[in-house]
Amino acid sequence: MEPAPHPRRGKILPFVPDGESWVARHVRDLPRSGIRDFFDLVQTMEGIVSLGIGEPGECTPWNIREQAIFALELGKTGYTSNIGLPRLRRAISRYMERLTGVRYDPEEEILVTVGVSEALDCALRAIVNPGEQILFAEPSYVAYSPGVVLAHGVPVGVPTRFEDTFRLRAEELAEKARPGVKALLLNSPANPTGTMVKEEELEKIAGICRRENWVVLSDEIYAELTYEKPHRSIASLPGMKERTIVFNGLSKAFAMTGFRLGWACGPAPLIAAMVKIHQYSMLCAPILSQEAGVEALEHGAAEVEAMRRIYQKKRNYLWRSLTALGFPCHSPEGAFYLFPSIAPFGLSSKEFALRLLREALVAVVPGTAFGPSGEGHLRCSFSPRMEELEEAVGRLSRWMRKSFPK
Ligand code: PLP
Repeated sequence: MEPAPHPRRGKILPFVPDGESWVARHVRDLPRSGIRDFFDLVQTMEGIVSLGIGEPGECTPWNIREQAIFALELGKTGYTSNIGLPRLRRAISRYMERLTGVRYDPEEEILVTVGVSEALDCALRAIVNPGEQILFAEPSYVAYSPGVVLAHGVPVGVPTRFEDTFRLRAEELAEKARPGVKALLLNSPANPTGTMVKEEELEKIAGICRRENWVVLSDEIYAELTYEKPHRSIASLPGMKERTIVFNGLSKAFAMTGFRLGWACGPAPLIAAMVKIHQYSMLCAPILSQEAGVEALEHGAAEVEAMRRIYQKKRNYLWRSLTALGFPCHSPEGAFYLFPSIAPFGLSSKEFALRLLREALVAVVPGTAFGPSGEGHLRCSFSPRMEELEEAVGRLSRWMRKSFPK
């Protein structure tokens, strides 16, 4: 005789984990990057001309690529010291002194990282206690707010306005001063607006940081890409080197995004804290990129200047074209983005960007990807090659004539 079935058999559903429930709350609640969302859609389409990507249209200069190849031929395929090759740290120290006038000790005040992205992440995790606030001008680079959240801090965007050329004003910053604010995250020249903090304003901002005892995280990745005045680092102001971590890298000015090489320079105790995180998470930046990095910093200046001039021409072309088409737009002082207003056209940033993509096959980034105060704007990169910019402008003007007849 068959044994009687177990009374619970078949009644309990097998446990199927949904995966989602394991994800930490602060990660689950993190919004997806507005740029990624948009470009997932772009990937599904054909024949798009993109002004959306924040990446140089040029290839890395040949002498730099060659050094990566030589290093590979020599069998340099291992780890390096956690903080980076000594030769590279010395080259960074000399480069930073030329660029900012500030000298950093290659042994204690420089950390080589996997792009500025990793440097920022390490710095935030090194300084933020849970719940502490980090201030930054908004619209801001897409990684700032999530980076602060991932470090268990609270991001506080300080809105800036088109009418004020998106400048961060010292008085508005001072209004945010309260216990619990740990640092100011500064980005000049800025992504997405191309704005640079004016010298007088920089001094006032530095004064507030000293008075309030804030750390300054200064993202200077676009320092070489300026078109009117040279870049001024906040670390070069009196009493500021001691409280500032400066971030820079090879991605933009040297057209080396895929090499993933950046660095942080700052006070020895803060760099030591970042090294603690970096040594357990990343170990070191890729050796081939570090070898190429030495060449870039020692022999790349002429190529950087040639690329800067090309960017300047492309900036002038795109700015003139957008202005002629009726977009209110500032001519950016640095970086490689225009951030025109679309106020005259009565659409939200997302609606405008989606229609432009679907109807004219031109990709730009809706301003809201950079925070709520980016509403009413688009980010148009002038980093692609000139032919692509011309094609995009041609499509845009035909579409504008049809969609918004005068
Ligand atoms: N900081 C800013 C302001 C940027 O615009 C970018 C890239 O777009 C980064 C940092 C990331 O730089 P990296 O490629 O060195 O990680």
